[in-house]
Amino acid sequence: MMEQAAVTRQTFDDVMVPNYSPATMIPIRGLGSRVWDQIGNEYIDFTGGIAVNGLGHAHPELVRVIQAQSEKIWHVGNGYTNEPVLRLARGLTQATFAEKAFFCNSGLEANEAALKLARRYATDHAIARNGVQKSEIIAFYNSFHGRSLFTVSVGGQAKYTEGFGPLPQDIKHLHYNNLAAVAASISEKTCAVIVEPVQGEGGVMPADPLFLKGLRQLCDKSGALLIFDEVQTGMGRTGFLYAYMHYGVVPDILTTAKALGNGFPIGGLLTTSKIAASFSPGTHGCTYGGNFLAATVAGRVLELINTKDILDGVKARHERFITGLEAINARHGVFAKFRGMGLLLGAVLNPAFSGKAKDIVDAAQNVGLMLLVAGPDVIRFAPPLNIPEVDIDEGLALFERVVNTVSLSNKVC
Ligand SMILES: *Cc1c(COP(=O)(O)O)cnc(C)c1O
Repeated sequence: MMEQAAVTRQTFDDVMVPNYSPATMIPIRGLGSRVWDQIGNEYIDFTGGIAVNGLGHAHPELVRVIQAQSEKIWHVGNGYTNEPVLRLARGLTQATFAEKAFFCNSGLEANEAALKLARRYATDHAIARNGVQKSEIIAFYNSFHGRSLFTVSVGGQAKYTEGFGPLPQDIKHLHYNNLAAVAASISEKTCAVIVEPVQGEGGVMPADPLFLKGLRQLCDKSGALLIFDEVQTGMGRTGFLYAYMHYGVVPDILTTAKALGNGFPIGGLLTTSKIAASFSPGTHGCTYGGNFLAATVAGRVLELINTKDILDGVKARHERFITGLEAINARHGVFAKFRGMGLLLGAVLNPAFSGKAKDIVDAAQNVGLMLLVAGPDVIRFAPPLNIPEVDIDEGLALFERVVNTVSLSNKVC
């Protein structure tokens, strides 16, 4: 093979559209919750590829199934169905409230499908609703639902829609966890309420159980569909296959992606047969959605994650993280609080350290730790669900070194 010219972080600035500002190190290999970069430095991965690698890097069983499938057939298009996608859909519908599944390649595509389905369902049932135009979508500030024009408009962060107008219409934003605001605002015109059971990008903010229960009741009263965006909270992340199971509130439509493919792109929408009927042939589609490779990986991911072993393991690891973080904070006093569920955790910085989350993430790289932010003031932890205890402990020891440096530098200033 011809020797290729080396690529470096500088190459990114040279040839990539500058919509990201990636770390200076370039990962080239991973195993479980460890990663190695171009020059052989080792890292403990507390990011899980942004809550994607639920079973860690290079999981041997996933490597095996994708290799085997890759030698048979990859893709045929939606004029044909395939065995892996049928098994995946059966698995997901058996494991959840849902009766029907639709597949795509990402979280945004799953949400785009959910929002379109809700509008279409409202149109189909408009006669029963006295002809009221039922197109309003209620969403929440600080939510994140993806980056298509529809999903950024529904997501409640103005900075993501600035300069992209005109935007899709009839979307109303209210404050998360404020049920009274929804009660005052929802009406016959509302076709859907979309909510993350735990806001991920928006700062790792869990929903109040009464908020979700209340949304369910309000949706039932006004004939709106309740959509749970479980792109980040799904696939075991909270210690339940889906977070709705923890809350005991069943949505009408659930969207899933991220950890569903453990890094192989796949997203999905789960719903009831009655609602699914509004997506009749020709109304919606996705070329790659649930192709052989994606569905094969996701099918095995589902079997591996939806076990007592993994889900109880998430709860135990949650405790280990929180105990370790509390101990670090007792020594350094950098954080106001820790919040989140399962292995989706947020460490909220004290006001004295506000805006420093990104600095901490950058500094962590230098000691061999991969971290995430969730906004300017929150460090987010979303490690693999099967992260070994020793990696948690080692990673937290590295984290303490970073926290120590940050807390010292603040005292000097
Ligand atoms: C990541 C995320 C999305 C978007 O997923 P993509 O695969 O990047 O399109 C949507 N909703 C939530 C809650 C997410 O965390």
